Amino acid sequence: ISSVELTRQFLDRIRTEDGKYNSFITVTEEQALAEAEAADEQRASGKATPWTGIPFAHKDLFCTNGVRTTCGSKMLENFVPPYDATVTANFRKAGAVCLGKTNMDEFAMGSSTESSYFGATINPWGDNRVPGGSSGGSAAAVAAHLVPAATATDTGGSIRQPAALCGITGLKPTYGRVSRYGMVAFASSLDQGGTMARTAEDNAMMLNVMAGFDPKDSTSVERDVPDYTATLNEPMKGLTIGLPKEYFSDQLSPAMEEQVRNAVREYEKLGATVKEVSLPNAKLAIAAYYVIAPAEASANLSRFDGVRYGYRCENPKDLMDLYTRTRAEGFRSEVKRRILVGTYALSAGYFDAYYLKAQKVRRLIQQDFVNAFKEVDVLMSPVSPSPAFRQGEKTSDPVTMYLEDVFTIAVNLAGVPAMSVPAGFVDGLPVGLQIIGDYFSEARLLNAAHQFQ
Ligand code: GLN
Repeated sequence: ISSVELTRQFLDRIRTEDGKYNSFITVTEEQALAEAEAADEQRASGKATPWTGIPFAHKDLFCTNGVRTTCGSKMLENFVPPYDATVTANFRKAGAVCLGKTNMDEFAMGSSTESSYFGATINPWGDNRVPGGSSGGSAAAVAAHLVPAATATDTGGSIRQPAALCGITGLKPTYGRVSRYGMVAFASSLDQGGTMARTAEDNAMMLNVMAGFDPKDSTSVERDVPDYTATLNEPMKGLTIGLPKEYFSDQLSPAMEEQVRNAVREYEKLGATVKEVSLPNAKLAIAAYYVIAPAEASANLSRFDGVRYGYRCENPKDLMDLYTRTRAEGFRSEVKRRILVGTYALSAGYFDAYYLKAQKVRRLIQQDFVNAFKEVDVLMSPVSPSPAFRQGEKTSDPVTMYLEDVFTIAVNLAGVPAMSVPAGFVDGLPVGLQIIGDYFSEARLLNAAHQFQ
């Protein structure tokens, strides 16, 4: 099959099916076909990479030269970046075919993809469920076979939780493994680009393209990139799995717990050993995150002022009116809430009590992971407290929404890598197994995920 034929098939599916899911904000049909044609020529000339001619999609916060990048917001509804994110450029260089940009919570703030200015994404598993978030568009598109793979980002769980709720596989790499250059910034010390696809092997193929040092990102890590597909078949014998006891608490329903324990038993059958470990400060992760992430967001989002780019209000009276109305009209309520909380936490007089304290807690949480990885190779846990919830079920109570990430956020605060792997069903809906690894152990996580699939 040629890339043009393959690309046409996926574009047709998007056209006929995505009305039900709303997983794409922008479909770049013409451009995709042109890329596919070029890829076919490339293949004919014998210069193909494994990605040449393969269709995929980008979460709509990776800047794409000449294609609008909205970040799910009215603020960037008509923003057409004049440059590519490093991740975008890497896929382009590899010859992959970008079909479009996927839906997401506004500025990646959310766990359900309901806060998008472009309307909510619906979980393809049906019953009016959310796909999770913030990368819900990427997860739903992969789950509905609209695209074989999609990029995503994870600041507090936004790859793993939607992957779990949509029954696909997702990987959040170590902080610094994938360049953040050209990703619209939410919380810069936590944001990390990563992968979503059906299998661990496809995630490995994606990471091969995405990972690597980038001088344009000051927190990018200069370290060799292995071939992540090379070690997928290493045996599980000798692997020590830690089960963090804090993650098997009363927040978890017996049905969810059973799925995770069944998955762990499979690993035991494959020769792994299991022991209980403790992450004593994990219970503080949500509280610390909801100081640190909004603080960084309030600073990052100050650039949207109606002057430089993005939305601008009509007929401003003066400069102050321009700033305030642009931001009042351009941002929706969750983004405003974060900016308010963040500005408060950073303000003189409250800085020590909130921001500084949260940073100290963050260090304790990181140390918990360092200690755990002295004893075990990987940690396993649930991804989310429950399977996909109904549209509208949690929108009126931000704190319930924040608790969706109770098992995922500590990982971001520590900066370690983690995956979500399909692990069965509860009430007919998919649930995930979270596999967490030490810094830069992506190859081991992908290997473990692959052995389970
Ligand atoms: N749900 C979390 C939040 O709203 C995490 C989002 C993310 O990882 N981008 O902040």
